Amino acid sequence: QNTLYLRVRIGDLDDDLYAIFINDVSEQRRFEAMRRDFVTNVSHELKTPAGAISLLAETVTDAADDPDAVRYFSGRISKESARLIELVHHLIDLQKAQNAQGIMNAQRISALDIARDAIAANQVQADARHVDIRLSVNGKTVPSEASGVQAAPAAAASTDSGEQRKQTEPAEQSEQQTADVQPTDAAPMIVADKEAIVTAVKNLVENAIHYSPEHTTVAVGVAQSGDKVTIRVVDQGIGIPAKSLDRVFERFYRVDPARSRETGGSGLGLAITKHCVQENGGSIAVWSHEGEGSTFTIELPAAPAEA
Ligand code: ADP
Repeated sequence: QNTLYLRVRIGDLDDDLYAIFINDVSEQRRFEAMRRDFVTNVSHELKTPAGAISLLAETVTDAADDPDAVRYFSGRISKESARLIELVHHLIDLQKAQNAQGIMNAQRISALDIARDAIAANQVQADARHVDIRLSVNGKTVPSEASGVQAAPAAAASTDSGEQRKQTEPAEQSEQQTADVQPTDAAPMIVADKEAIVTAVKNLVENAIHYSPEHTTVAVGVAQSGDKVTIRVVDQGIGIPAKSLDRVFERFYRVDPARSRETGGSGLGLAITKHCVQENGGSIAVWSHEGEGSTFTIELPAAPAEA
């Protein structure tokens, strides 16, 4: 595949034909370099918490007669272990997402259910940070738990007034989500691997909470416009500098590595999200302004109407 075949006739050498094979290995080399970088990154990310745990365990043994020190160092051991476990989970998710081709379990699912599962998975962290998560369907607020009220009517789908406005004015969008709860029966439907899309949205909600100050709001919006379904996560957090916007989906890329490590990020969440979405025929976009917040928008093909 990487070999370029040239068949040339050289001078008057008795009309002999010579074949020259030029092997273009640049793509192979690039892939190899990426693989090496990945292994180096993984080793580094695993070594840091593992090394810390080992040191802290020694320290806690030395400080055995001081209950305060034991409590403090045990707490740090728990934190580093949690980081290690998160990284291993993310590596497994990434592996699954990268190898997903053709083995996904595509099914007809409600985008609202996806959003609710993703919110439920993050509710404890949100409560701990006093972050209020609001859920809306086609612009109408709905409860984030599944009981009772369902999604907005199909007719409301066309009122979702387009990508551009929301990409440029996410704050306005979240303010629009008033408290009027609309009991209806038609949620936007997609055909996708549920586990993959829940993983994708869960990572976005997790980041939205993680990179926002306490007492802020994260708005999760599900909407249908024509044959597209969007799942949007809007936060009022620290935002992402313009120069980093293109890079946040790269494996192990972090805007502020020290801060992310301190607060427990693996650097893999958005890479996993992007894979999960793309494997299901969708795309993901980010809008952000430093200090104003971020908006991540997943776009997926809407499921065809049921016969
Ligand atoms: P991490 O585990 O570090 O959060 P991710 O792949 O999920 O890794 O995100 C990559 C980087 O993108 C983060 O380290 C952070 O700098 C930035 N980022 C992601 N989501 C947000 C957000 N909602 N607000 C601000 N920065 C974000």
